[in-house]
Amino acid sequence: MNKRPRLVVFDLDYTLWPFWVDTHVDPPFRKSSDGSVLDSNGQHVRLYPETMAVLEQVHSKGIPIALASRTGEVQGARQLLEMFGLERYVRYEEIYPGSKAIHFQRLSQQSGIPLPQMLFFDDESRNIQDVSKLGVTCILVSNGITLALLKQGLEAFANS
Ligand SMILES: [Mg+2]
Repeated sequence: MNKRPRLVVFDLDYTLWPFWVDTHVDPPFRKSSDGSVLDSNGQHVRLYPETMAVLEQVHSKGIPIALASRTGEVQGARQLLEMFGLERYVRYEEIYPGSKAIHFQRLSQQSGIPLPQMLFFDDESRNIQDVSKLGVTCILVSNGITLALLKQGLEAFANS
């Protein structure tokens, strides 16, 4: 069997959903009668189309999932994770401003998983640069997470 990561880590803004939670939407969020998620201005808030499928697929492989976000809107981000039903897939969460190197050191401490055994998806090249230096396999996301990118990441990890 291919070498597999022991932890898959996702950024939030522009990786799992197409906005900055601290700027483009207005917490608190609520669910409308049809189940869609709205912000406090009544604006519809959505995930990228394949986000749920990607998390389900990682989860079904038995690989734990973590989140690493530098947003200052921690409460809003947590509320969205809950409303979208993503929380059930997530074992570790590091959500606060600062260098992502810190987020990853803490993820490693919490999980006991060495950094080189992690796979990370993020849309910002500075985060990819910071986290690559730690030995984590990193994939740059350009238009939101997709099943194709997940496959690419798992292959990159297997060949690392
Ligand atoms: Mg981002």
